[in-house]
Amino acid sequence: MISAVLPTYNRAPLSFVKGEGSWLTAEDGSRYLDLGAGIAVNALGHAHPALVETLTRQAQQLWHVSNIYRIPEQEHLAQMLVDRTFADTVFFTNSGTEAAELAIKMARKHHYAAGNPDRVQIIAFEGAFHGRSTGAIAAAGSEKMVKGFGPLMPGFTHIAWADHDAIRAAITEKTCAVMIEPIQGEGGIRQVPDQCLKGLRDLCDSTGTLLIFDEVQCGMGRTGKLFAHEWAGVSPDIMMVAKGIGGGFPLGAVLATEQAASGMVAGTHGSTYGGNPLGCAVGATVTEIVSDPAFLDAVSQKSALFRQGLEGLVASHPTVFEAVRGQGLILGLKCRALNTDVVKAGYAQHVLTVAAADNVLRLLPALNIPDADIAEAVKRLDGAATALEQAA
Ligand SMILES: *Cc1c(COP(=O)(O)O)cnc(C)c1O
Repeated sequence: MISAVLPTYNRAPLSFVKGEGSWLTAEDGSRYLDLGAGIAVNALGHAHPALVETLTRQAQQLWHVSNIYRIPEQEHLAQMLVDRTFADTVFFTNSGTEAAELAIKMARKHHYAAGNPDRVQIIAFEGAFHGRSTGAIAAAGSEKMVKGFGPLMPGFTHIAWADHDAIRAAITEKTCAVMIEPIQGEGGIRQVPDQCLKGLRDLCDSTGTLLIFDEVQCGMGRTGKLFAHEWAGVSPDIMMVAKGIGGGFPLGAVLATEQAASGMVAGTHGSTYGGNPLGCAVGATVTEIVSDPAFLDAVSQKSALFRQGLEGLVASHPTVFEAVRGQGLILGLKCRALNTDVVKAGYAQHVLTVAAADNVLRLLPALNIPDADIAEAVKRLDGAATALEQAA
């Protein structure tokens, strides 16, 4: 008999009743060190005092009003994001996949409004993940996600990951945009080299193609800059944000330049919940904290510390781990053992990690994880690797 909850997830036999910082407490009272942070969502860890304060204050004030009205909390967060990024304008969603939907619509409408209605084709990459809406699965195009859900939304071209020559060859007079994650998350913490992002920007500029960055997973301070693309010194025309921006409250956003957003006039898009006072109040507190340069520097320092420990694990467990990947606190351990076995061995050591494609173990801790918890994480991962070696 089917479970009351639609059985679309392979769930671990764990459930939690409380979270504090980088720790989760299970039903039996035991504590787990959380290196997944709800897949990069709990950017400030669990129950961060400033977020609890903002959420409860706003909950007593006003939760929700329609976008029929002006929403000061939304205007405030939009202005914060505009002040801190390439963007001139922001639309708020409840999730990353909704941000993907709008990014696709916005890019097509831009060319339509400019008198080029045939420029609809969007180039995306093998291994990409942009969410689970019908548009987002068509964009990513992976067999696993699209099988049985056809007919898919047309207008996507899929090419090998970050293959510059293939991108150049794929751009035609029908091309609308290129959509890419500066660091693939689900795809296995695959980082597009800075030179590639620069080359992509030049290619888009010379062909009038819009550049869309999906920073749903790698953005909001995760790499040690507010957004990952800042490391390469290039900016997109449109950017998708979600996950960390709400710190656990469902919130997403599309950031865009005035030019890219040129077609999005009144009536062209909307959302019932997107940008409501509760979500935007929390988002503003997260943004305030993670955009502080001292906070971002601390992320880079924590990253160096964590990486050092992880390199040590690769050296001491060569049959389990192969290499360290990623930047800031979006890190991956490429495995020689099966990554899902490592995740399970981690459960036994009370450390939570997340599997990704390409046999990678994903490490996405809270951005403010204490150094002592990083040391503890390395110790527990060492224990997990040792257990796997002994079982082999
Ligand atoms: C998680 C993710 C999404 C989808 O976000 P949802 O909030 O799950 O819809 C899109 N793109 C990337 C890169 C992601 O990691």
